[in-house]
Amino acid sequence: MHDVIIIGAGPAGLSTAFWCDELGLDTLVLEQADAVGGQLHRVYNPINNYLGLKARNGEELLERFAADVDNADFDLWTQTSITSADLKARRIALASGEELQSIAIVIATGVRPRELGVPGEKELAGKGMIESATRDRQLFAGHDVCVVGGGDAAVENALLLAEVCPTVTLVHRGKKLRARSEFTEQLQALHCITVFTESVLTRIIGDERAEAVEIQRKQGLKPFQLAVRGVLIRIGVEPNTDLFKGQLETDEGGYVVVNSQQETNVPMVFAVGDVANPVAPTISGATGAGATAAKVIASRFTR
Ligand code: NDP
Repeated sequence: MHDVIIIGAGPAGLSTAFWCDELGLDTLVLEQADAVGGQLHRVYNPINNYLGLKARNGEELLERFAADVDNADFDLWTQTSITSADLKARRIALASGEELQSIAIVIATGVRPRELGVPGEKELAGKGMIESATRDRQLFAGHDVCVVGGGDAAVENALLLAEVCPTVTLVHRGKKLRARSEFTEQLQALHCITVFTESVLTRIIGDERAEAVEIQRKQGLKPFQLAVRGVLIRIGVEPNTDLFKGQLETDEGGYVVVNSQQETNVPMVFAVGDVANPVAPTISGATGAGATAAKVIASRFTR
């Protein structure tokens, strides 16, 4: 029996654990990956907006978090796969067969990039699928590429790729790009970027690596193929809530609904970070939510 079990060791989970430890709670963090950090591993841009700290990228910020976390006294189990969670009973079953019980549970499972779900997307991972233009664009210099999505992330990545690629084709399902005007104005000024709206990417073609994409412009029209060496998909994110399906109140996007104290609708079950923040996900918001949850849990504790 633990006082608190935290599921997920990104910024929100680590901050919750750090605070729970400070407040004298017996705390266990479960992380399915082999290392802590969550989405910080996918932040390739400089982090300039975390008050009091600057970092070249997510890895550097994580190193700073880790320095504090290493000195804390909570238990951390990485590579730990959860098979089921009974939130009302606050009981967690692990793939190892072990059963865990706690007085409070904190869900800090974050979000994952949304997948298109088209043939070739998974098969060609690492073989022409571009994870980040900031990190990977030099690998695609001199090659034609395709970007899918219509938000800030897709358009910003298309602009970065246009610095080094002869052509960038942006494929967006909607009539109008959703990205901010600062980005779309730059996009319109660049002749090397072609935008296909009301269009969907239906297949990524290639054996050893991506060689072409299949695009369907408008419903009913026959798809056509476009030769590209790289494909970057940026169509938003989805909350990691599958484990808790049917047990928690969520919004229409599947995000966990919490009150100002990070409480879910299940007593002594809290949610922190991006999994409970569809509107304004930030690293500082995630660490702040962790602090709030820990203080609320400590104040409710009856030993
Ligand atoms: P968004 O949710 O803003 O946009 C996702 C885009 O993907 C939308 O255009 C959507 O289309 C499209 N989409 C969603 N699902 C599918 C699908 N199944 N098939 C095809 N297209 C799909 O996500 P972003 O990742 O762009 O941005 C997330 C947040 O991060 C935003 O708040 C953004 O402002 C922020 N951000 C800020 C940046 C910066 O400040 N420099 C850079 C990048 C992101 P539709 O429009 O039709 O719904």
